[in-house]
Amino acid sequence: MPVLTAFLHFVAACLMAALANWAGLIAWRRAAGALWTERARLLWPVRFTAGINVFLIPVILNQAHWFLSPETAHWWISDGIASFLGALLGCYPLDREIFPQLNFKNWWHQVIAGWGIRFGIWVALIAACVLMPENFGSKMLLVAGSYLVLHFAIQWGLFLKYLRWVKFLKPAEDRLQQIVNVTAMRMNVTVRATWQLAGPLANAFALPTTHELVFSNRLLEICTDEEISAICAHELAHLQESKAVLAGRLIGSLMFFPLIFITPSIHQFGTIGIFLPYLGMFIIAKSNKWLSHHMEKRADQIALTEQTNEGIYASALEKLYRESQIPAVNVNNRQTHPHLYDRMLAAGITPDYPRPTKPRRLTLFGWLYAILLGAVFAFAVSRSDVANGYAKFNKGDWDGAIADYTKAIESNPNDTDAIMGRGAAKRAKGDLDGAIADYSTVIESKPDNADAYVGRGDVNYSKRDWDDAIADFTKSIEIKPNNADAYTRRGAAKFGKGDWAGAMTDYNKAIALNPDNAYAYDERSYLNYTKGDFNGAMADYNKAIALNPDDDYAIKGRDYLRTKKCYFREAMPGSNKSGTNDGVGGKQF
Ligand SMILES: [Zn+2]
Repeated sequence: MPVLTAFLHFVAACLMAALANWAGLIAWRRAAGALWTERARLLWPVRFTAGINVFLIPVILNQAHWFLSPETAHWWISDGIASFLGALLGCYPLDREIFPQLNFKNWWHQVIAGWGIRFGIWVALIAACVLMPENFGSKMLLVAGSYLVLHFAIQWGLFLKYLRWVKFLKPAEDRLQQIVNVTAMRMNVTVRATWQLAGPLANAFALPTTHELVFSNRLLEICTDEEISAICAHELAHLQESKAVLAGRLIGSLMFFPLIFITPSIHQFGTIGIFLPYLGMFIIAKSNKWLSHHMEKRADQIALTEQTNEGIYASALEKLYRESQIPAVNVNNRQTHPHLYDRMLAAGITPDYPRPTKPRRLTLFGWLYAILLGAVFAFAVSRSDVANGYAKFNKGDWDGAIADYTKAIESNPNDTDAIMGRGAAKRAKGDLDGAIADYSTVIESKPDNADAYVGRGDVNYSKRDWDDAIADFTKSIEIKPNNADAYTRRGAAKFGKGDWAGAMTDYNKAIALNPDNAYAYDERSYLNYTKGDFNGAMADYNKAIALNPDDDYAIKGRDYLRTKKCYFREAMPGSNKSGTNDGVGGKQF
């Protein structure tokens, strides 16, 4: 079962992601002949949506699963991972269309490299949130400390180690090493190591913590040595940043750290405590953006003074943006880097095309899924009392279930599920009149609700009000003529009343409607046994156990028949071999 639900999540997520990506690309495809800036502008929301979908879709599917089929939603972790992987796979056609040089093998390699460390960070974050205790103490220090150790290990080299380990990164080849050596010597910067990165994107980045530089293979393919040196000067400028800036960058990298304190924050401050960690995250993220934006401008300035010829740095930047299809003007001014168009102007080059308009944030499907997520969350919140009541009922906590269902009914007096759930809990607790009242409320407002009649019929059965029970089950059968269980229940009520022939007719009808109905065989076996038809009873027990090997009632009944040897006595010479026992057998017990 866990494998089946995980598989369904995987397939659904893959289809949802692939559909969103395919539809998102329509405008980009139509603009095949347009200028690269226009194509990049159209592509941006598609990629952004695809990146978000990898997280949105698993949450949507898990929430939808939870309210469509709560009894199969226990494996939310494996379901979530399966839909995460499905949504990733759904991005393959998109990446393939943007970068035709990709095949499945090197695409998968890129996914492992790009998502492995991110996935690890998310797992660490979720684990820290879950393990975090409510109160300050040694456990809190242990959880927070472990998270920080992992975080700083990633900042101090684990990230590049991982990329090397998955063979996505290798030491710089001679050409790059030479360019870096010359440029670094000229700028008087120490570089600990230089690396080459695989994948279709053309980019470069610096790691100020460990004084390392990374250039992608694609960048090296499309840029001249002069251009690589200009880009290199920008990255070296990041390595020249002061200790204070480095400290600021490290604090900025701890953006998600406040989130692990959600549990103690709620414990300490109540509902408002939910927002405090988010506020912390928001403040850190804002200041980090401000700092890195300033540092990018500074690095651009330094790269300009270091370029060997006028316009080299601007042309190198444009090549990188064009190759990776990043818009020349982005959705807003709050990106880490200034817009390419402005970076080129600052470099003294006016592009030979007008300033492009900014891209849209999300595609239509991106908005659709975001709205869907909001809807499933709103639904989940509105149904949480019913879900809690259901969970408590399954645990046998009748009073807890009644309290939760009552809360749900108070916020929505017409909540049929809540009223019927409370009726079932009251019946289980023994409050039969209370249960009748709840089911009657539903029947009054929804006279065609067959389940409500079945529910009230069960309570009447428990009260041994055979006529009322029979009336309720009959009503339910009128509404839903193919409901085998309603026939079985009515048969049991008729049996209670003493109408054996009527009971037999109903049981037979139930079995005709659904031959795999263990419940109907259970009930008929008891009637057969009572009538003294031990062969019939034994056949029904066997059938019920074959259908449901855990059927305690049938197992005990069969053992009883066997120990009393009634079944074998039936088969002895002289007895009635047809299997019916003229009604005298009942007295044998
Ligand atoms: Zn930079």
